[in-house]
Amino acid sequence: MTRPVLLMCPLYEPTQHELESSWAVQRFYQAKDKAALLSELAQTCEVVVTAGGRGIEASVLSQLPRLKLVSCFGVGVDAIDLDYCKAHGIAVTNTPDVLTDDVADLAVALMLASLRQVVAADRWVREGRWVSQGGLPLTTQVRGRRVGIVGLGRIGHGIAQRCEAFGAQIAYHGPRRKPVQWAYHADLVEMASWADVLIAACPGGAATRGIVSRAVLEALGPQGHFVNIARGSVVDQPALVQGLTEGRLGGAGLDVFEDEPCVPAELIALPHVVLQPHHGSGTHDTRTAMGRLTLDNVTAWFAGRPLLTPV
Ligand code: NAP
Repeated sequence: MTRPVLLMCPLYEPTQHELESSWAVQRFYQAKDKAALLSELAQTCEVVVTAGGRGIEASVLSQLPRLKLVSCFGVGVDAIDLDYCKAHGIAVTNTPDVLTDDVADLAVALMLASLRQVVAADRWVREGRWVSQGGLPLTTQVRGRRVGIVGLGRIGHGIAQRCEAFGAQIAYHGPRRKPVQWAYHADLVEMASWADVLIAACPGGAATRGIVSRAVLEALGPQGHFVNIARGSVVDQPALVQGLTEGRLGGAGLDVFEDEPCVPAELIALPHVVLQPHHGSGTHDTRTAMGRLTLDNVTAWFAGRPLLTPV
């Protein structure tokens, strides 16, 4: 209990309970005087726990000169200043693999919801339009569709396998070709021109900011659908909103946004867009597994054992 741990944001409740039962946790997010808390911890705090959406910035890291580990609840580490950590010998861990299936499932659910208008159809029934207007206007089949995946990592691969089971054709874009059976496109605009559905599954951060650009969305076109389970930063959000509003993009299924939890009112108003509150990994099963890995990395570090999942 004596070892201090700085917690940047609330975690999955059972994980946070276990963390707070094991170590002397200080809640940064609730501290009224954050500068005073950092100064109190400056000479003792070696471990920070955070989550993918919160991360930790250099202005906080620099107040903790004894810091040795940032354990992140989540796989995306784009909100952690990795350059600072690397330069100062601070290890970073995340929670890969354990969330892959859930996030890939949600990507496919969003693709199905967008192509088959599942959410609009639900409203159709609830609003009595089945009775007053008859059946829903026809939608688009998944079988045979061309699905382009931006980022064929763990989650992207899971999405490809699932889409293949639905009879879709698969291609992918990323920094390098992979030893897989699916077609590789080095040029994202070219893949978007080919695709009926574009699914973003790459990391966020400076290197991927806006890679799903206006030109990519234009290439996807008025019959095309865009699914984003990556990060809001990977798409030019104003261009996405404009394309959907003006009918130059067919539909979208979005789990992530530029400025969460704020979702542009224009997107909320569009009936052919399916919106989710960034919960790709949001099942008890997966959050439990993510929590276990987050805690086990902290325990391993305090025990002097190798970290389980260093970034
Ligand atoms: P991963 O295994 O590291 O895969 C990331 C893939 O993106 C890699 O294949 C990488 O290519 C590729 N990539 C890197 N830069 C790229 C670029 N500029 N353009 C296209 N592809 C690029 O990570 P993962 O476990 O699949 O997770 C991927 C991301 O999903 C996370 O970073 C996070 O942002 C997001 N995520 C979202 C949720 C959610 O709730 N919605 C949950 C978990 C994760 P190389 O292999 O060639 O380096």
